[in-house]
Amino acid sequence: MNKETKQTKISELGEFGLIEHLTRNIQLKNESTLKGVGDDAAVLDYKNKLVVVSTDLLTEGIHFNLMYVPLKHLGYKSVVVNLSDIFAMNARPRQITVNIALSDKFSVEAVEELYAGINLACEKYGVDLVGGDTTSSLTGLTISITVLGEAEKDDLVYRSGAKPNDLLCVSGDLGGAYMGLQLLERENKVFKINPQMQPQLEGYDYILARQLKPEARGDIVEAFKKLCVKPTSMIDISDGLSSEIIHLCKNSGVGCNLYEDKIPMDYHTKKMAEELNINPIVAALNGGEDYELLFTVSLSDYEKVKNDPDFTIIGHITDAAEGTNLITTGGSKILLQAQGWNHGNTE
Ligand code: ADP
Ligand code: MG
Repeated sequence: MNKETKQTKISELGEFGLIEHLTRNIQLKNESTLKGVGDDAAVLDYKNKLVVVSTDLLTEGIHFNLMYVPLKHLGYKSVVVNLSDIFAMNARPRQITVNIALSDKFSVEAVEELYAGINLACEKYGVDLVGGDTTSSLTGLTISITVLGEAEKDDLVYRSGAKPNDLLCVSGDLGGAYMGLQLLERENKVFKINPQMQPQLEGYDYILARQLKPEARGDIVEAFKKLCVKPTSMIDISDGLSSEIIHLCKNSGVGCNLYEDKIPMDYHTKKMAEELNINPIVAALNGGEDYELLFTVSLSDYEKVKNDPDFTIIGHITDAAEGTNLITTGGSKILLQAQGWNHGNTE
């Protein structure tokens, strides 16, 4: 928090004043939002569409560290991680509600920064902030966001639909968010020992953005529509590829072969891994927070997906009896381990 600018105590506005202040400029964008903030409840009309709901809870010290996460980025990311869950159902997000608990170290200006990030994400993804709750806390900041989305019944994609011989695919590239976190933690340690040292973050933009300002892959859901592809199963990658593949296979009652040499990784991710002496494959498999989509498509859709620059085919689905395997670059077959990304051991 910047000490130069004036810090207003939340008690000067009071809880209602704060809510009014934070929500005064909201302009509703979606047809399905009949009533947003300002009454006892929001009113939504999804007509004959199905409603998809997901929620996430983030606590200071467990899921984020305000030593190196700017509040605006935190607000943005809190929304994005929720939207990612809706896209992973092949659905479209429409509304969010935001619950926050604040300790008295937070000023009005600090909460404004958080909301600047929340509003930016709402703007970018076309969702309406339609309500929330605000309370005080003795232990720092807690944010819980709930997102509502819509889909036609036939468009919904579950974790449970993968079939043997389906292609296993992923969007974007993996491991970047984890390498960004390693960099931030390294610089934070240096800063704690010597507060005069400026953090060395130049040249690391890509992995820092992957950690601090991830995007949810709504563009992939639009791409499916355009290509006339409906994945047979899908999940978003919040905990690392390995753990998500295991979830997907377990839910679908299948096994898989994942090829190490096919896992997409950015040059900057590999470079940082080398600098920190970490195997980049480990970052992709067991890191987390990439918020890419992992999905399966029927083999008959191969022609449609093979040349799309947004997707990479990383393996195929097998019978459950074969297990969930990683085929290494050297050709050995090893069982995937569910070493999910656990934020200091509590999920
Ligand atoms: P109640 O006492 O019924 O919980 P509140 O005074 O908490 O009502 O909320 C008033 C309105 O402001 C409601 O529409 C609620 O959804 C909204 N609201 C409360 N807190 C927030 C927040 N942190 N962000 C956005 N909207 C909020
Ligand atoms: Mg309330």
